[in-house]
Amino acid sequence: MSGNAYDVIIIGSGPGGYVTAIRSAQLGFKTAIVEREHMGGICLNWGCIPTKALLRSAEIYHYMQHGKDYGLSAEGVSFDAAAVVKRSRGVSGQLNGGIGFLMKKNKVDIIWGEAKLTKPGEIAVGPSSKDAMQPQHPTPKGVKGHGSYSAKHIIVATGAKPRVIPGLEPDKENIWTYFEAMVPEKMPKSSSLWVPARSVSSLHPSTKQWALM
Ligand SMILES: Cc1cc2nc3c(=O)[nH]c(=O)nc-3n(C[C@H](O)[C@H](O)[C@H](O)COP(=O)(O)OP(=O)(O)OC[C@H]3O[C@@H](n4cnc5c(N)ncnc54)[C@H](O)[C@@H]3O)c2cc1C
Repeated sequence: MSGNAYDVIIIGSGPGGYVTAIRSAQLGFKTAIVEREHMGGICLNWGCIPTKALLRSAEIYHYMQHGKDYGLSAEGVSFDAAAVVKRSRGVSGQLNGGIGFLMKKNKVDIIWGEAKLTKPGEIAVGPSSKDAMQPQHPTPKGVKGHGSYSAKHIIVATGAKPRVIPGLEPDKENIWTYFEAMVPEKMPKSSSLWVPARSVSSLHPSTKQWALM
């Protein structure tokens, strides 16, 4: 099998893609995963993980405000939105790096770029047609680059993206998607914020709570 030929290629390194890649490699298939933006997909970079990190800060702030109820005292309790966001990005970055490590450990090649299906069993990987959301975590080391790759099996695990309603484009001010929600420059007034969100109504009650904050 040549260097660019695989048993299995997975497009997209979100929870759908990276878990599949690990299992495929464990079963003895020569496996590669293609990613154009961020290892771990939306969940690790802009969804499940950074939201829970933000929530944790909100939870601790809430406890500190209500210390008296528990016989504790804390004065001058306040928050620094930039530091809260920085911590959340740090947690996300740590796990993002962990996925790169897991790929290496399981001998899954990472191909960095945007995949397009060109014919059955073949993909072309080139530059991303999408502007990467900022800030980005570093690209994993030792990735394979743009080019043509083939596989007996190609699995598409490219996830979803927020649908922008014409006339209600995200503006970082009053209209957010989950991308803007993860890196706010300041806390919005809850009455002025509109988050057209499907995913924040997902499984976790805590996520809903955050959406209502
Ligand atoms: C704010 C928020 C909070 C959430 N909280 C939770 C939670 O608490 N619990 C929970 O279970 N779920 C949660 N989710 C949902 C969860 O993030 C998604 O269900 C999950 O990320 C879907 O995984 P996936 O692998 O299908 O796709 P994604 O995570 O979207 O990954 C797809 C990957 O494919 C890449 N890609 C796309 N096209 C190409 C291409 N052509 N070439 C190369 N790469 C490509 C993308 O860059 C991306 O990295 C949340 C989502 C959001 C937005």
